[in-house]
Amino acid sequence: MAEIHVVSGGTVLADWSASCVWQDGAVAWQDGRVLQVGNRAELDRAFPDAQRHHAHGGWIAPGLVNAHHHLYSSLAAGLDPGMPIHGFGQRLDRLWWRLDRAHDEESIRHSVRLAALRCVMSGCTTLVDHHASPARVEGVLDVVAEELDQAGLKGVLCYESSNRNGDDEALRGLKESVRFREANERNPHFRGLIGLHAAFTLRDETLVRAREWVEEGDIHIHVSEDALDETECRSRDGLSPVRRLEAHGLLGPRSFIAHAVHVDARDMELLARRGALLLHNPESNANNQVGRLDLRSARSLGVAVALGTDGMGPCMLGALRSAFLLHRAQLGEDDAGWRECGGLLDGARPHLARLFGEPRLGSLAENAPADLVVLDAQGLPDVSKDSLLGQLVFGATPLRVRHTVSRGRFLMENFRPCLQDAERIARESLGVRHALWSRFRAMEAGTPYLGPRQKGQQEDS
Ligand SMILES: [Zn+2]
Repeated sequence: MAEIHVVSGGTVLADWSASCVWQDGAVAWQDGRVLQVGNRAELDRAFPDAQRHHAHGGWIAPGLVNAHHHLYSSLAAGLDPGMPIHGFGQRLDRLWWRLDRAHDEESIRHSVRLAALRCVMSGCTTLVDHHASPARVEGVLDVVAEELDQAGLKGVLCYESSNRNGDDEALRGLKESVRFREANERNPHFRGLIGLHAAFTLRDETLVRAREWVEEGDIHIHVSEDALDETECRSRDGLSPVRRLEAHGLLGPRSFIAHAVHVDARDMELLARRGALLLHNPESNANNQVGRLDLRSARSLGVAVALGTDGMGPCMLGALRSAFLLHRAQLGEDDAGWRECGGLLDGARPHLARLFGEPRLGSLAENAPADLVVLDAQGLPDVSKDSLLGQLVFGATPLRVRHTVSRGRFLMENFRPCLQDAERIARESLGVRHALWSRFRAMEAGTPYLGPRQKGQQEDS
């Protein structure tokens, strides 16, 4: 029998909404599953021979989820595009679309490896990633999954299909997402979604093909991140991006919709009706100066909202603080942010639970997957459902992560990564980054939103 572990000596939060709290609590697990959650004395009696771990007065809580990430971007920090960037379209064309074309398998591996290490150190155990690397499409999601697997993390992966580099590539991207999804239908640690870049770089034929494979709307797509997506789609197709996805039957309770900064009230209502998950990326939206999500409307209409970093980094607690502060700054109302940002760290839980077929995923409860984090929250007052957001935002931001446990294994213990050699990963990434940046500089800009047609198909009129 596998060893039983117990972590105690801190406050246990059953979930990131603090719906149940044990002030002097403990969690026991074995074989990657939670055995029991409760008071420390009770678990001490129940598991006298368990291996014990100390929380040092911190918070013991479910592993954090990054609901929208781009792991391929981790080697890009500090990269100078070498040409001016004005507006969102040029940011994609001159930075991100050159970077994704410059990636090869080695640079993808090192990007994911470095990003995974940072996620572990930030207490994140599940990542929803959106991948693009036109020079390496077939099989690339296996490469991403291998690296995440070695780091001990869970992943929901897709390849972002787009017509910007041509129709052939759009189809190859779709097929890669479908291949990965089918290969991982029963994998307890990985799931696949059908990846789509954004409506303005997708032809109708690609959406029609996607519909053949999509099940219950299981897509992951950027929607109305910038006004560009809205104006391009409305002028070209006569529909907003959300309406266009709806017209193609692509929205449903498994849809992962990133941004939605420029959707109108009608489209927000439609996202609520379809049960889609909206992925809010406050730091990325601020950096790209694309506007802000109407978080109040989204939440009051009943849209499920989760937090992502959109490739900006690994820190979900930092993203929560940014969401709160940006929302308050923009609304300028005394009570802004408290209702709208409560439970954001917990937002993806029902959708991920359904996707993995694990009803208790993302919570600390009997028989839940043993994914947990211990935050170094010494000196903070007793936490409750009402005080959680304030303590997360103002307590000691960002709270340091002492332990990260995923699948029942320690990925980080007492601030030191257990499975990964952090110094080696950082050292090895230097040479790979240099080569990636050289290839990036050799890449031309000027990618159109819709690239060349497949042979035998008609040009757009
Ligand atoms: Zn994104």
